Amino acid sequence: MMNINEFIAEVEKTDIDVYTDTMVLDVSKDNVVTAVNNKDGLIKIQAVAVVLAMGCRERPRGALSIAGSRPAGVMTAGTAQKYVNIDGYMPGRKVVILGSGDIGLIMARRMTLEGAEVKVVCELMPYSGGLTRNIVQCLDDFGIPLRLSCTVVSTHGKERLEGVTIAQVDERLKPIPGTEEYIDCDTLLLSVGLIPENELSKGVGIDLDTVTGGPVVDEYRETLHKGIFACGNVLQVHDLVDYVTEESKIAGKGAANYIFGKKQGGTFINTKGVNGVRYIVPQRVNIENEDGVKLYFRVGQVYKGAKVVVECDGNVLSSKKKVKLAPGEMENVLITPEMLRNMNENSEITVRIEE
Ligand SMILES: Cc1cc2nc3c(=O)[nH]c(=O)nc-3n(C[C@H](O)[C@H](O)[C@H](O)COP(=O)(O)OP(=O)(O)OC[C@H]3O[C@@H](n4cnc5c(N)ncnc54)[C@H](O)[C@@H]3O)c2cc1C
Repeated sequence: MMNINEFIAEVEKTDIDVYTDTMVLDVSKDNVVTAVNNKDGLIKIQAVAVVLAMGCRERPRGALSIAGSRPAGVMTAGTAQKYVNIDGYMPGRKVVILGSGDIGLIMARRMTLEGAEVKVVCELMPYSGGLTRNIVQCLDDFGIPLRLSCTVVSTHGKERLEGVTIAQVDERLKPIPGTEEYIDCDTLLLSVGLIPENELSKGVGIDLDTVTGGPVVDEYRETLHKGIFACGNVLQVHDLVDYVTEESKIAGKGAANYIFGKKQGGTFINTKGVNGVRYIVPQRVNIENEDGVKLYFRVGQVYKGAKVVVECDGNVLSSKKKVKLAPGEMENVLITPEMLRNMNENSEITVRIEE
């Protein structure tokens, strides 16, 4: 997998104009991109194709109902990542992390390697949202405890965080009275969910998937708005950058083919996640696609030894037993060209979990 500097070097070899420190304000219905920066002022670019790649934003403290005042030392994991990796500051020495998705897990390891003591990682759900390998490599290897079905109920300290109270939660995710525990800490890192950054997409009137929060796309990652493509965290939240790279190549190729008129029409049908499958990307598939299509999906809970069943028009297309399925792990199934050939414009592909 290439690193960021190699990607930059690749772009520099081309004649592509790169505008840094530039904010896109609007994408119009006829694909005119309006941006602004200090050097050029207002810029308008008439695009044939646009690839949306605005990433996501982290759910902030305000979205959680944690009691307490607003002391320094409470921040999102991404802010702490910026302090440590880019600015060279340590956000604190005694750390509690709320949320055990991959970002929370990676930050537990990072803060430990930088010399902090990570007291505990608390997770609201009865399972971690992160990859098993990250639980092992980021927590177990450093002896950092993971408390499942547990949350932070209050913060303490006025100017600077002095401690937090954590508590176990019941099956309705409500704190259980009597289980409260005070933890002495000066930093609380929040890693409690990401929200695709789709203000520009909404401005164009692009249809969004209510589950992913990102645009509805076909297998070329084209949205329902002609010539506008999407990839990365703006499309669906990815935990690992490797998947973002994979998806951006698909969208880039889709946009290039669109510009050169290689992709014209097709017969599109819907995909649908049912019975444990929360969502599928892409949501639409061209049955005339001669290369086959990979469907990416996530499950809503942990399954052990369950089957992933792909069905269309009452026919089971594939059924595969998996040792473990977890919300943190993006899964995929392949729809082969042979499978697509047997479908028609009224078909719908479903993916479900069978226990
Ligand atoms: C806090 C956090 C930590 C992560 N840590 C890791 C990690 O350690 N390892 C890993 O593999 N993955 C990690 N990930 C996973 C992450 O999904 C990828 O690493 C990757 O950065 C996502 O790529 P992206 O291009 O979709 O979005 P981003 O990398 O977020 O890029 C989006 C870019 O679009 C810009 N932008 C947004 N709106 C506009 C606008 N209107 N005009 C102009 N520019 C705009 C943003 O400034 C940003 O530069 C992390 C994700 C988050 C949120």
